[in-house]
Amino acid sequence: MRKINFSAGPCMIPLDVLEEIKENIVDYKGNGISLIEASHRHTYYDDVHNEAINLMKDLLEVPEGYSVLFLGGGATLTFAMIPMNFIPAGKSADYAVSGAWANKALADAKKLGKTNVVFDGKDSGYTTLPDPYSVKPTKDSAYLHITSNETIGGLQWKNWPETGSVPLIADMSSDIMSRKIPVEKFAMIYGGVQKNLGPAGAAFMIIRDDLLERSPEDLPAYLNFKLHASKNAMYNTPPVFSIWVVKLFLEWVKKNGGVAEMQRRADEKSSILYRTIDESGGFYTSPVDPAFRSTMNVVFRLGSEDLEKKFIAESEKEGMMFLKGHRSVGGCRASIYNAMPVEMVQTLSDFMKDFISRNG
Ligand SMILES: *Cc1c(COP(=O)(O)O)cnc(C)c1O
Repeated sequence: MRKINFSAGPCMIPLDVLEEIKENIVDYKGNGISLIEASHRHTYYDDVHNEAINLMKDLLEVPEGYSVLFLGGGATLTFAMIPMNFIPAGKSADYAVSGAWANKALADAKKLGKTNVVFDGKDSGYTTLPDPYSVKPTKDSAYLHITSNETIGGLQWKNWPETGSVPLIADMSSDIMSRKIPVEKFAMIYGGVQKNLGPAGAAFMIIRDDLLERSPEDLPAYLNFKLHASKNAMYNTPPVFSIWVVKLFLEWVKKNGGVAEMQRRADEKSSILYRTIDESGGFYTSPVDPAFRSTMNVVFRLGSEDLEKKFIAESEKEGMMFLKGHRSVGGCRASIYNAMPVEMVQTLSDFMKDFISRNG
């Protein structure tokens, strides 16, 4: 039986997509060669590459004037590439520090340029976010960086800072394609694909073309966003397998009603779990400010670490995997990305209620 996968990443992939890969992995569409053997310069792969890019543009309603890239290195390499490419001499970069991932983005930027912290959730233990309109760029700001969904802390921006002419950049690794976003407000959106779009191996970037003009010519080739964009993200061999699965995943999103339907499902699924927590009489608690609870990563605690261990062990016996919270924060976490059907979330909710009746 297929397990119910609550992993925070790599994520669950729709079964239809896995089956399609299985069908085609040896003999891609009857051409007598696997796609992962074929030259990335051949039309077999080229078509997949361009379809993946076009589906990103189409589903997210990306306006004219943006480039979409898929590159290796994950979101983590992108943390370093952003300051390398986009902090010009004499300028500094602003970071809103909402939790573990924002801190990692900031840590790399600090090594590469001048930075300012425009919000820091440290005092709340990273359980809340600011009024977005209170987050303003500083003087001489090169860009303002936010993390739209903190995968570990389980909190999510619901509105966006107004940065005027200062580019707004967002790490959307763990909530891309799960809700409508006004792409035109952002100069760049990026993330690893393995949280909500496919398997590990690639990161996506949506970059406004005027920002690309900042990339310094003396950067090493792979680190230069402008070079990648000028080659349609084919300067070197792309992560072919990952991008192939992303393309199939995006076709699945489109077939299933697009981003609007993914958002409706995310709201429904997360509501089921938050309601179960809130109506448990304190048996389960959410540390996150209700105004900013994530629709992707539902973080919760039980009364003691022993009880949490028991909860996780019993859930595994019921076929539910990876409900343990991140090692840095403990507790429990259910990641309910796009591919997870509502029925599986209902199974978890029923298990949570049953667990109270046996341990409450
Ligand atoms: C997982 C994650 C990252 C790191 O992604 P990699 O692709 O593993 O480098 C960065 N930011 C957020 C919000 C994440 O969830």
